[in-house]
Amino acid sequence: MALHVKKERRDFIQYSTLGALGLVLAGGVLGAPYLKREEKYLRPPGAVEEDRFLALCIKCGQCLQVCPYHSIHLSDFIQGYGMGTPYINARERACYLCGAVPCVLACPTGALDHHTEKPTDVKMGIAVLEFPELCLALTRTPVPKAAVDKIYTHPHTRAVEEDVLKKLSEFVDKPCTICADMCPLPNAHNAIEMVRADNGAMRPEVKSGCVGCGACEELCPAMTPAIVVKPRLGYEDYYTKEKKS
Ligand code: SF4
Ligand code: SF4
Ligand code: SF4
Repeated sequence: MALHVKKERRDFIQYSTLGALGLVLAGGVLGAPYLKREEKYLRPPGAVEEDRFLALCIKCGQCLQVCPYHSIHLSDFIQGYGMGTPYINARERACYLCGAVPCVLACPTGALDHHTEKPTDVKMGIAVLEFPELCLALTRTPVPKAAVDKIYTHPHTRAVEEDVLKKLSEFVDKPCTICADMCPLPNAHNAIEMVRADNGAMRPEVKSGCVGCGACEELCPAMTPAIVVKPRLGYEDYYTKEKKS
């Protein structure tokens, strides 16, 4: 009898725990579409407007399979909405703007618009010097080796990834120009340049050619990246309308 009661109690705990877990999971899954998007994802190159993107993307993962830099991930329910859709976490691995934009070519539905044929067609977002007080150039701090070593821990199982990360060693102990010099766009000076700041030091200035690939954010050696990408915004949106400057 005592054994029977114990078993019932164990079963109850087991099933109620499972039930609670199920409710939490179901809540996450069912609620996910309604957790509206305060935080925007940085989508892969060519991503169409967000609502259309969510409707068109069939979550096949073709784009991430062809990306040689491991830039693309598929979101899970913890991230709130668009479960299974591709996004880029620039801080861990940006997009390096491959010449033929293979992720777009691989997309079977047009969620990544096939009119995006080359790096300068990309419109992922816009770079912003969000934390100027952390910028090593503005604070006249030479690039520390430890910071470069830390970035070198980002994924690099392929030669193209290693090539990017290895280049950072050339900046160690020098004034920081990494964001401007490592921008992967052809004619990168149309996207970002070092200019003289009011305090006489140098600072990065983002230009209208920036496509928001996030390379500057990934490679920025400041304690927390001083330059970040605002997804889904263009130069006009941020620098003209939001900043009114
Ligand atoms: S352009 Fe290249 S690096 Fe960027 S997401 Fe597409 S495949 Fe990856
Ligand atoms: S990479 Fe970062 S620290 Fe270096 S100049 Fe650019 S924003 Fe400043
Ligand atoms: S400035 Fe930064 S975000 Fe803009 S294109 Fe260059 S590396 Fe990419």
